[in-house]
Amino acid sequence: MSEIEIRCNCGELCGVVRNASPRRINRGTCYCDDCQAFARHLAHDDQVLDEYGGTEILQFSSGQLEFTSGVENLACLQLTEGALRRWYASCCKTPIANTLGKSWVPFVGLLRASIDRTMTAAQLDQIAGLNRLRVHTKYALKDSEQLAASGPGSLSMLLGLLRLLGGGWLRGEHKRSPFFANGAPVTTAHVLSAEELAQAQQVSAS
Ligand SMILES: [Zn+2]
Ligand SMILES: [Zn+2]
Repeated sequence: MSEIEIRCNCGELCGVVRNASPRRINRGTCYCDDCQAFARHLAHDDQVLDEYGGTEILQFSSGQLEFTSGVENLACLQLTEGALRRWYASCCKTPIANTLGKSWVPFVGLLRASIDRTMTAAQLDQIAGLNRLRVHTKYALKDSEQLAASGPGSLSMLLGLLRLLGGGWLRGEHKRSPFFANGAPVTTAHVLSAEELAQAQQVSAS
């Protein structure tokens, strides 16, 4: 068991994932257009998205995550009303994590891009396990069939998540989340306007 340090680009918002181990982390890459739009809206697509438009995500139980400084910089947006809550650091717009709208689903999808960069890829592999899962590959910017064949997909991701959630519930971790207090989100989400969304969905021709 080890820890993974979280740090936004400017260093204002820091946090830690405790009890990190391959058994307690579900690691994969999501190619969906919503994850792409999130990164583009914050102008961090260069940092977040791989060459196929994929966002690497580490899923784990919300009770494992704690913000250790600068939590006043924690901000939230939703691409549309009622959609996934997407959290970021308002200080420098670093995307941090995704959660559902309800606190009783004790799950966090942490973006790899929010992990302190002093951690090497090899260290992360050891602590979080290898990144094998590929989900929503049909939205990939290229070679989607090749990607789909390159690793287990949505079903494995879901099964892994259910396993984590089950463990989290047993440990009472749904009662602890840095994103919710008394069942309500710690900050109101900015819902993108139709214009903002259309802009975020635009794939730059490169
Ligand atoms: Zn920052
Ligand atoms: Zn996605």
